[in-house]
Amino acid sequence: CGIVGYVGPRASEKALDVVMEGLGRLEYRGYDSAGVALVAPDGVETRKRAGKLANLRAAIEEADLPETATAIGHTRWATHGGPTDQNAHPHRGGRDGKLALVHNGIIENFHSLKGRLESEGVQFTSETDTEVVAHLLSAAFERSGDLTTAMRETVADLHGAFTLLAVHSDQPDVVVGARRNSPLVVGLGEGENFLGSDVAAFIGHTRHALELGQDQIVTITPDTYEVVNFDGTPSDGKAYEVTWDAAA
Ligand code: GLU
Repeated sequence: CGIVGYVGPRASEKALDVVMEGLGRLEYRGYDSAGVALVAPDGVETRKRAGKLANLRAAIEEADLPETATAIGHTRWATHGGPTDQNAHPHRGGRDGKLALVHNGIIENFHSLKGRLESEGVQFTSETDTEVVAHLLSAAFERSGDLTTAMRETVADLHGAFTLLAVHSDQPDVVVGARRNSPLVVGLGEGENFLGSDVAAFIGHTRHALELGQDQIVTITPDTYEVVNFDGTPSDGKAYEVTWDAAA
C-alpha cells in the first residue's frame, strides 16, 4: 500500500530512520502489515510484522540491526495471502537471500508464474503474489549481475498493477524501482536519493521530485538517478517541486 526507498552516502547510515519516518507519513493510507530491508555489502537484513508500525518498531529494536546507507520499506494492504508476518513484505529472493523486494498492487498472472517456478524447484515462504517477482528477479540477477537489467527482464513477464522496489547486497548503494498502473515518485536530495509511492514518503527531506511515467524503471544511487522505459529506451522523467505543506 505504501512504499519508501532510500540510498545515502556510505558513512551516513541513517537509511532505517529515513524509511521508518517515511512509512509513518504513509500510515494515513491504511495498511495491515509493515516491513523493512536494510542493505549492506555483506548481506540484506529484513524485519516484517503484521499489524501496526509499532510492532515493526519493536522487532527492529529487539534485533539491534546494523546501520546501513540503503533501505526499503513497505506498508501492506493484503490482496493475496492473509495479513501475517510471513506474508508481509519485503520478500527475499534466491538461495542466498541477497535480494529483497517490496510491492504495491497485484500481479495478475502470479499463479502461472508460481507453477513454473515450483516445477523448477523454487520453494515459497509466503502466499503472496509478490513472492514470484522476488524469485524471478533474483534468477535474472544471477544472469546479468545488474539489478536494473534484471528488473527490465522481469517486468516483461508480469501482468497487472505494480510499484516494485528492489535491493541486492552485491549492489549495496542502489535501489531500483519499476511501475505500471501504480504510482512511483523519485525524491532528489544532495548526496542522497529517495523513492516513494507518494511524495509524503520523503517530504521531510526534499521537495525536488521526479514523477515516473507508465512502464518505467528508475535506478537511484546516492549521487545519480536514471530512468528507462520497459523497452530500455532512456527517459528524462518529469521533474517538479512539491509545493503543498506536508504538515497540513
Ligand atoms: N498484492 C500484494 C500482497 O498482497 C501487495 C499488496 C499491497 O499493495 O500492499 O502482498
